[in-house]
Amino acid sequence: MQYAFIDGARHAPEPNLEGICPVCSEATVSKCGPMRLWHWAHRGKRHCDSWWENETEWHRAWKSRFPPESREVVHFDSATGEKHVADVKTQCGVVVEFQNSAISLAELYARELFYGRMLWVVNGARFAAQFTVLHALPDPRSEFAQDLVFCPATSKWPRSSGIFWRKSENPDTKPGDLVELHSISSIKSEIEREYIGQHQFEWVRPHTVWFESTAPVFLDFGEDTLWRLQEYDSAIRCVQGVPKEQLIQSLL
Ligand SMILES: [Zn+2]
Repeated sequence: MQYAFIDGARHAPEPNLEGICPVCSEATVSKCGPMRLWHWAHRGKRHCDSWWENETEWHRAWKSRFPPESREVVHFDSATGEKHVADVKTQCGVVVEFQNSAISLAELYARELFYGRMLWVVNGARFAAQFTVLHALPDPRSEFAQDLVFCPATSKWPRSSGIFWRKSENPDTKPGDLVELHSISSIKSEIEREYIGQHQFEWVRPHTVWFESTAPVFLDFGEDTLWRLQEYDSAIRCVQGVPKEQLIQSLL
């Protein structure tokens, strides 16, 4: 943790300090060694919040973009008595969780239920080599897109390649029927006109837990653009590019 209480006030770790854990009120000690980020730890036991993961530079960099009073906010459910530390809770009450390690579906659901209004930022560094952003898609709500059915694309094709078919050309199509396919390149300018940042993607050995989230999920590959996971239509998923700064500003 980045904060513990000393004399009732939130305090960052400095060498040789003792504090009180804001979650369980047990004693904590400052850990200010050369190897790991300076942090607070409980004496001789694991973190009292089972949802807590060891903080990385990635966590700290993200949290540092928010005001200190928005970081590590203890959340208490008076009905169940459960207490957890939200990585960030904005002035508007939106919880932002920065997730570096894998998470089970049960924990995902439990955390979303506990926090309510929340979003996830997932560190994509570990699976960046398995993740490819593919061709652009038109806004699925646009009139132009209503007639189109996009086929799942693959990174084996050139980045801008994809195929689709038209409902109007295949009016009575049932699953498994042959349809006339077209190349994405034939509708490039129309897609550009209706583009809102969405792309097909390929994720080899995907962390499917993130497809089940009921909260927005933003993948962070360490670039200026975050990729928000979305269902495009009933057939394919997509990611939508969101400038990192834009997301942060919208939460401040
Ligand atoms: Zn504690």
